[in-house]
Amino acid sequence: MSGGGRLDFEIRPNPRAVAADEREALLVDPGFGRIFTDHMVTIRYADGKGWYDARVEPRAPISIDPATAVLHYAQEIFEGLKAYRNDDGVTMFRPDANARRFTVSAARMAMPALPEQVFLDSLHKLIEIDREWFPSIPDGSLYLRPFMYASEVFLGVRPALEYLYAVIASPVGAYFAGFVKPVTLWVSQEYTRAAPGGTGAAKCGGNYAASLVALTEAAANGCDQVVYLDAVHREYVDELGGMNVFVVYDDGTLVTPPLNGSILPGITRDSVITLAERAGRRVVERPIAMSQWRSEAASGRIREAFACGTAAVITPIGTVRSAAGDFTMGDGGPGEITMALRQELVDIQRGRAEDPFGWVHRVL
Ligand SMILES: *Cc1c(COP(=O)(O)O)cnc(C)c1O
Repeated sequence: MSGGGRLDFEIRPNPRAVAADEREALLVDPGFGRIFTDHMVTIRYADGKGWYDARVEPRAPISIDPATAVLHYAQEIFEGLKAYRNDDGVTMFRPDANARRFTVSAARMAMPALPEQVFLDSLHKLIEIDREWFPSIPDGSLYLRPFMYASEVFLGVRPALEYLYAVIASPVGAYFAGFVKPVTLWVSQEYTRAAPGGTGAAKCGGNYAASLVALTEAAANGCDQVVYLDAVHREYVDELGGMNVFVVYDDGTLVTPPLNGSILPGITRDSVITLAERAGRRVVERPIAMSQWRSEAASGRIREAFACGTAAVITPIGTVRSAAGDFTMGDGGPGEITMALRQELVDIQRGRAEDPFGWVHRVL
């Protein structure tokens, strides 16, 4: 490691990069998370040695020993953010916030902190070399997936002494197929995703593993996503397991559950709060009881609801379904305030609107 928390990256261009015409064909309709660029970043860590061997190299399978710790004890964290190409260059949205959150997740999972500058540099390097991989479709972007796992070969239970940090990139279109269609949520009564003292506020794969059975249940009930309740009372809304939740009252007030340690502190959530307050709206962070959501949606006090996260940006919630029956926001269509916030956020992200908060980071 050189001074100032920086690393020198060795650049190894891919001799078998995808041909231009083939790449263009892939970028016409990339979907989400199916197509990947030509390169990846890898950086290794060993106890006593620190971070070393920073590389940008051809994207390839990683060969790991069957006794690698992550395969057994799931010591793993990740991040997700998007880079955008517009008329005058390439940008990322709030990558410093992802860098910070990565170190917070690492601390919770007893993993070493990757210096935030190294995290940012790794994204720049990958975008630079894979700059031809931006989809040119209107909603397209380059989704960046930094992650880190325990790479030590050891079956004993303790924090590993070796780690691999990597970044891959995936050209993406819209997350949910079709145009901003409101989603139907399933209220999971049996399963929770995070408990006080647990790992809900860390962006770790284990949280997702724990949530998949509820997602299956949701699909069996005709729903798109799960809304998780708090693990203690099974009454207060936590989040969607990959997106945070807001409800919108008839006076324009936005309410979202407070960061209680079980909720992932979304960067989109934080951006929405800032944008809504700038527009003169009241934003209240307080617990939302499911019974209250139901009765206030029925009475018309709650007019809109939406989920937010990097992948799908802002997605209107149409109907909430549980064993107790369904309830719907307004007429079930996308809410006006929801869609206005979505537009404001997307316009800043894509460089079409002014960025008074310094959220947009220039890459190229
Ligand atoms: C990543 C994630 C979110 C959304 O966070 P953003 O920073 O807005 O993308 C919400 N909940 C969970 C569990 C997540 O992993």
